[in-house]
Amino acid sequence: MNNPAPTANLTIPSDILPEDGRFGSGPSRVRPAAVTALATAASDFLGTSHRKATVKNMVHRLRSEIAELLQIPDDYEVLLGNGGSTGFWDAATFSLIEQRSQHLSFGAFSAKFASGVAAAPHLQDPMILTSEPGTHPQPQADPSIDAYALTQNETSTGVSMELHRPSQQGLVLVDATSGAGGLLFNPLETDVYYFAPQKCLAADGGLWIACCSPAALERIERLGASDRWIPPFLDLSIALHSSRKNETYNTPALATIFLTVHQVEWINSNGGLSWAASRCTESANIMYSWAESRSFTTPFVTDPTIRSHVVATVDLLEVKADDVAEVLRANGIVDVESYRGLGRNQLRVALFPATPPVDIAALCACIDYVTERLQ
Ligand SMILES: *Cc1c(COP(=O)(O)O)cnc(C)c1O
Repeated sequence: MNNPAPTANLTIPSDILPEDGRFGSGPSRVRPAAVTALATAASDFLGTSHRKATVKNMVHRLRSEIAELLQIPDDYEVLLGNGGSTGFWDAATFSLIEQRSQHLSFGAFSAKFASGVAAAPHLQDPMILTSEPGTHPQPQADPSIDAYALTQNETSTGVSMELHRPSQQGLVLVDATSGAGGLLFNPLETDVYYFAPQKCLAADGGLWIACCSPAALERIERLGASDRWIPPFLDLSIALHSSRKNETYNTPALATIFLTVHQVEWINSNGGLSWAASRCTESANIMYSWAESRSFTTPFVTDPTIRSHVVATVDLLEVKADDVAEVLRANGIVDVESYRGLGRNQLRVALFPATPPVDIAALCACIDYVTERLQ
């Protein structure tokens, strides 16, 4: 660790640089066209009441475009509220888990939801199934469980999992924060598919969005009407009634709503989720085949079937990842550092739909350029 400072003045030739240097896994690259559209619409939209038609129409668009993007059944409903996915975990703790949940814990995000639930005095101890970073556990049907907490894509490690109902009983709650809009899934295998828009949806943070099945809506309304004390901000029965009016319980960030709508309409107009997912798969193929073909790097997730197509993690073997990331940053390529806390010599790269595959190829070329000169 006493190495001299890396070649921070190493200049990557401009002809191999990506068009846009933002590769972070959240907040992620926002498409410049969306920002321009927001600026154009700003004087009629930003700074206007979220209880009036202009903003309510935008919330309506958000809910219907999300339903189209994710191809959810007609009897599912799109809810939204403030607090991002982390806020939604607390809402789920009050409004979705009846007594006992099961959690697949295989990275920083899934572990956080599990530990929050474990600390809740009104619930039984959850069943927490864990596995090594870079893998995921399998859910286990259990009659004591009324909610199964799955994570479609563990953003901290770059592992994604197929979504299937573990049992005919119990709600299936899916943290899809980094998967929604980039990964295919069958909505019928989920009861609550929730996410925030600062990942695949290339918007800003602060909002949660949840696609809820009839069984989930029944649970939300029943717990909302029960004796359980629920803080109003975390009460999904209130969020349900606000959402049906195309409102949020309290003031939302209007720019976030606008940018989300812009991105979802962009994906839908290009061919929808299958288009977005194939674009992410193309980026993933570029990134992983590059990593497998180089002696200095290898994909962190060894099982190719669970390697994420939206967040790639690659271990570096011969050079320090922090040094590589530092040189990249000095050249305008930002946020490819590994997840803090995972503690590996690793780079992590978002492959979200807003990033064209050609930029992933350019990033790989830049990493080649830097590592050759740092060795
Ligand atoms: C980013 C992320 C979160 C946290 O989202 P916030 O909106 O910041 O609360 C939760 N889960 C997963 C899988 C994530 O990727």
